[in-house]
Amino acid sequence: MKNINEEAFKNLRLAGRILRETREELKVFVREKMPIIEVCEKAEELIRRKGGKPAFPCNVSINDVAAHYTSPPGDEKRIPEDSLVKVDIGAHVDGYVADTAVTICFNRELRDMVEAAEHALKKAVENIQPNMPTSRLGAIIEQTIKSRGYKPISNLTGHQVGKYLVHAGTSLPNVAHVSFAKVKLGEAYAIEPFVTVQNAAGKVENGSEVTIFRLVKQKPPKNPHAKKLLEHIKDNFKTLPFAERWLQNVVPQEHFKEAFRELLLSKVIIGYPVFIEASGKPVAQAEHTVLIAEDGCLVLT
Ligand code: MN
Ligand code: MN
Repeated sequence: MKNINEEAFKNLRLAGRILRETREELKVFVREKMPIIEVCEKAEELIRRKGGKPAFPCNVSINDVAAHYTSPPGDEKRIPEDSLVKVDIGAHVDGYVADTAVTICFNRELRDMVEAAEHALKKAVENIQPNMPTSRLGAIIEQTIKSRGYKPISNLTGHQVGKYLVHAGTSLPNVAHVSFAKVKLGEAYAIEPFVTVQNAAGKVENGSEVTIFRLVKQKPPKNPHAKKLLEHIKDNFKTLPFAERWLQNVVPQEHFKEAFRELLLSKVIIGYPVFIEASGKPVAQAEHTVLIAEDGCLVLT
């Protein structure tokens, strides 16, 4: 493989393999009425057992929730019957990140929409190549989705992945757009079409729930428990997103809420709200991480 060092290539490949296996195991594990937290914990445990670390909390986003829901501690929510479940997972090996997602469909009527998302991803993978304008890739994805009678989510994008970064540098919109950005040889990208029904708004907006967080600033907190939480976040997740679930038992339970609140209020960490389809319509997603090669790409996941 050219334009990428051997170490990066090896780690990316391994992160990709870990995720591919994890995704396939989750496809048969996820069932209606199952507690969502069981899915999150299973995914994260599989990633660790296979020798990687979660690059972000396992996202389980249901129906009109397009992305960014992971179980908070003690989550009692379950997978609803007849639902559309997007399981989005990330793994890293020594900071090299891979990202993949699959939509598990318990609603017969939405199967065709899930296939449209998968088909758009396949078309993107077949067409992506070095120096391709991101606008061209977006147009291919948009056209593929529309040709099947569905609508792309215009404000959710694929993205380049970097060391300890899930969203690095270049974005890959799922629609035709104005940009001079190009796909580069030797770089890794997550391609992720999001699809909804024809009569939907076709965009997402922030919901009120916030379950995923990330360290953005290093300002020493006053509260000693907040300080301890911050140290734990720095040492274990660096600049990668994390869940509140991952911070249990770092400080005494009775001090956790206040310490966590201080980190948020002082903007040392930020939260990512859930993304909800603006007209409340169901959303399907498919995602792979690919490495750009001279003659196209290598699918890592
Ligand atoms: Mn993802
Ligand atoms: Mn992604």
